[in-house]
Amino acid sequence: MTHPFLDLAPLSADRFASIEDRVARLLGTRQDVVIMQGEALLPLEGAIRATAGPGTTALNVITGPYGQTFGDWLRDCGATVHDLAVPFHTAVTADRIRQMLAEHPEIDFVSLVHAEAATGNTNPVAEIGEVVREHGALFYLDAVASVGAEPVLPDAWGVDLCVIGAQKAMGGPAGVSAVSVSERAWARMAANPRAPRRSYLSLLDWKERWIDGGRTTLLHAPAQLEMLALEACVERIEAEGLESVMARHAAAAAATRAGALALGGGLEPYVYEARDAAPVATTLRAPSGVLASELVARALRSDPTLPLAAGGGALAKEMIRVNHYGPNATPGAVQGSLAALGSALAEQGLDVDLESARQAVEGAWK
Ligand SMILES: *Cc1c(COP(=O)(O)O)cnc(C)c1O
Repeated sequence: MTHPFLDLAPLSADRFASIEDRVARLLGTRQDVVIMQGEALLPLEGAIRATAGPGTTALNVITGPYGQTFGDWLRDCGATVHDLAVPFHTAVTADRIRQMLAEHPEIDFVSLVHAEAATGNTNPVAEIGEVVREHGALFYLDAVASVGAEPVLPDAWGVDLCVIGAQKAMGGPAGVSAVSVSERAWARMAANPRAPRRSYLSLLDWKERWIDGGRTTLLHAPAQLEMLALEACVERIEAEGLESVMARHAAAAAATRAGALALGGGLEPYVYEARDAAPVATTLRAPSGVLASELVARALRSDPTLPLAAGGGALAKEMIRVNHYGPNATPGAVQGSLAALGSALAEQGLDVDLESARQAVEGAWK
């Protein structure tokens, strides 16, 4: 008897190339798209190690935990790094970037996270892209948490390295990711003697041995399960329509925000301005005197399948995350999450209005 996961035929080079093309279409890009068969940290790290070296001066924007990691990798590569840290309750502006570039004209690399699932904010990449392009720096973007939830347009925005993963708004598995690479980025890698080669982290290996060879010979046996899952995930997005997938995420964010405000009990949106709030996930601030991690644990007791989590690390005290992405970008998941949080707050003696919250979610879901 054949097993659906275990007895898979090897994935052909043609099939692999066609999945890459489908991902490129999803991003509306004419750049090369390289699929990395690993969690998104693989291309995120690979792209930095390929392009940064001791001659690099980087502007690293920190709007959440990933920006911190990128700065560490850049320094490890020998780059000079100027960090621009922005409080997690807001977004970075194009003006702040312009100012940093004016103060440090030698900056030739800018790293930015588009949306942060971990902190719930999103950055105005289109405007920032204009500033970065004007300056001439290479533009590296982590779009793992934005792809599928809001527009991600590497060509229109002048992004040289745009990394995506399937596990957030794309509603796919963790373990497949991709990066679109501009001609400028390939040239930077080719000129970097420290860019990884003959390494699982290497993007240049894919350029030289896969893309330049007309995509006929794969570098190694592809991970069939992950690749088939990525194909199915893109197929499902195409069937629903990317626009409507994004609209579902925008509605989920607006509804969660409106519902939390109507719920009361001291619960507040973590990101002050709605325009800075990411469509992929909504973060909330726990009322003073309430530990976010305890509140979430209590809420999950009523329904462990709800997409609720406390913030990571030190944020676990104050931040509640409603991860309304992928299959959870639905009115049911948002209503369920707020109702469970409301009941947990009520158990702690706080005054909440569950019915107002329910109506606010319904009203905001357009
Ligand atoms: C989720 C996410 C990633 C991928 O990391 P995992 O925690 O392993 O899923 C990378 N960057 C951003 C901005 C993310 O939100």
